[in-house]
Amino acid sequence: MQENENIKPDWTPKNAGKEFAVRVVKGTNQSNTVKSKIVKSNDLSIDDYIKGVLNNNRTILAKTITLIESNSEKHFDLAHKVLQKLLPHAGNSIRVGITGVPGAGKSTFIEILGMYLIGKGHKVAVLTIDPSSTVTRGSILGDKTRMENLSREPNCFIRPSPSGGTLGGVTRKSRETIIVCEAAGYDIILVETVGVGQNEVTVRSMVDFFLLLMITGAGDELQGIKKGVIEIADALLINKADGANEKKAEIAKTDFAMALHYLTPSTQGWTVPIETCSAITGRGIKEAWDNIEKFVALTKNSNIFEQRRKEQLVEWVHKLIEEELRNQFYNNPNIKSELPVIENELINGNILSIEAAKKLLSIFSKK
Ligand code: GDP
Repeated sequence: MQENENIKPDWTPKNAGKEFAVRVVKGTNQSNTVKSKIVKSNDLSIDDYIKGVLNNNRTILAKTITLIESNSEKHFDLAHKVLQKLLPHAGNSIRVGITGVPGAGKSTFIEILGMYLIGKGHKVAVLTIDPSSTVTRGSILGDKTRMENLSREPNCFIRPSPSGGTLGGVTRKSRETIIVCEAAGYDIILVETVGVGQNEVTVRSMVDFFLLLMITGAGDELQGIKKGVIEIADALLINKADGANEKKAEIAKTDFAMALHYLTPSTQGWTVPIETCSAITGRGIKEAWDNIEKFVALTKNSNIFEQRRKEQLVEWVHKLIEEELRNQFYNNPNIKSELPVIENELINGNILSIEAAKKLLSIFSKK
């Protein structure tokens, strides 16, 4: 097989000649997955990446995402070339953002929803955006075993949040990962994010539908969920409506319905539904998905769906520019040396904030 010619073994004994490698690889009857596992990323050409993704070779799919997530400049060029070629194959999916406070049941919900969708013949990709990983390098979402059944499904691909870098960097990578997953044939993309404020707005700008998962209890039903988040949600779902909690969930539903009444839905022609569900018993899961399908049908019909995706593309460009400018600014050697000095002047009351900003910007723009 031609593919074997490119495979180098992970390990060879000291002083081993070429013949050693050939003997090991050629003599083994390996499955596709195993074969690609020992292909080092360095050995993959653009074509290998493209073909691998388009054939939904999961190992290559994961490697492509790793390439895209790389913060190393030497990978940027290759990553962009790969993305460029995958782009025409992307876009054919429903992108759903799912948010909720830690413990709301996001992963349990995604697991049961994902299994339901796979049962309906869909291919589901689950991406998580965890802004905590950019700050602490730890993670709110990632430190427990999540979605065990779903992760074993061949028609599901789960990718945890990329770590390191800025929130802007993490979301850029997630947007590009969506493209890669779509090109690999995943027709439903679930983007999970933990509900802590700013990042919901970012996730909203990369999905077609935004679902807010809530729980009852703790007295204050708005439990840290900012009003702004409710305003950008396309559906509200009160989870854990089972057992003794079922009644409470129904009461919360009525309360929320009243609050929602005063909000203008963000999508013309769409009334934001508020429902209850249980990610444990499965009650309300089908209905939750039905709502998403209704929304997609409505917005495709009114062209809002397409329009929004176009707006999101434009918005993305602006975000990329902002991020690039910010990087250039803070990595500029003159800024690096002058910033602490000017900050100090500011703190000591010798200079106004606006003057400090102007001074720094003029240092930055001097070549
Ligand atoms: P996440 O932090 O939002 O991802 O929440 P998890 O999915 O990890 O769920 C947190 C806890 O709530 C776990 O112990 C789940 O078993 C439990 N849980 C999730 N969904 C439900 C539900 O519908 N009903 C009940 N009773 N418990 C649930």
